[in-house]
Amino acid sequence: MPNLKNPSSPADGYRGRFAPSPTGPLHAGSLVAALGSWLDARQNQGKWLLRIEDLDTPRCIPGADQEILRQLLACGLTWDEEPSWQSKRQERYKKALERLNGLQTVYPCTCSRQTITNALEARGVTTPRNQEMVYPGTCRPQEIPAYKNERVLLDGVAWRLALPPELILHFKDLALGTQSQDLNQEVGDFVLRRRDGIFTYQLAVVVDDAEQGITHIVRGADLLNNTARQIHLQQVLGYLTPSYLHLPLVLDEYGEKLSKQTLASAIHTENAQQALHELRKAARHLGLSDLPDGKDTSIAEWLLAATQAWDRKITSS
Ligand code: GLU
Ligand code: ZN
Repeated sequence: MPNLKNPSSPADGYRGRFAPSPTGPLHAGSLVAALGSWLDARQNQGKWLLRIEDLDTPRCIPGADQEILRQLLACGLTWDEEPSWQSKRQERYKKALERLNGLQTVYPCTCSRQTITNALEARGVTTPRNQEMVYPGTCRPQEIPAYKNERVLLDGVAWRLALPPELILHFKDLALGTQSQDLNQEVGDFVLRRRDGIFTYQLAVVVDDAEQGITHIVRGADLLNNTARQIHLQQVLGYLTPSYLHLPLVLDEYGEKLSKQTLASAIHTENAQQALHELRKAARHLGLSDLPDGKDTSIAEWLLAATQAWDRKITSS
């Protein structure tokens, strides 16, 4: 069995990352995540990696990845190792899924959204809008076998992770404090590979964070709800769990999270003035104070001051 354990332990030092999905250019919300994770890495003299999460091809926009790279560079947010693209790492996710199959923790699911809705309705469960349905376990066998590996990769069925009963996961978020989630009640057996053959975010992010030796995850609070799932998956795969810090979300004027779906507009980084303006907005959102606001401050100077401001903020909280 390949050893997929975390190849570099936290003792090797801080390794952070920014992992945008190329579904469009960076907007104010994604810049906050980029800046927050970059500052935290710099303040810890750590490495900051860039990973393009481009597995959900129907949602990806051609060229958005290159645009994101350009925007980051224009903002002075440089990365330390070769950026990676998840679309080029499918073999890793396949291996992880096969390994989970060997552990008898995955099973095929043929449910459509409608079947799941019906099964939930039959139990009197209605899912509020904007919330994911809790999978009722319709396809879960009594005893989960190890399927033949060829089957694990068959298209046309989804592969779900079987959760152990009574799994209440607790973790500490460095900004938000102790969090807990009852995975069975709130999520259910979740999908690792979709019916269309696409590996899910949950599986890919866990495999990549471990294989890239990520020790610190700093990202938007919209992802907080995924964290318990990811920690559970890390535990099943025998990976180390990084530390987590979720940043406050940027909301639009209607109180909705900024996203490509709500047509959040791209940040402007055509020149240094504009980039600095965007960085200043992101820093205000992060609650950083006493930053140079002069017209002729360079981005490099400003980022240095912001790193110190981040340090003051973290050490005082
Ligand atoms: N690709 C995810 C997103 O853009 C973020 C992944 C992560 O930071 O864990 O929302
Ligand atoms: Zn099913």
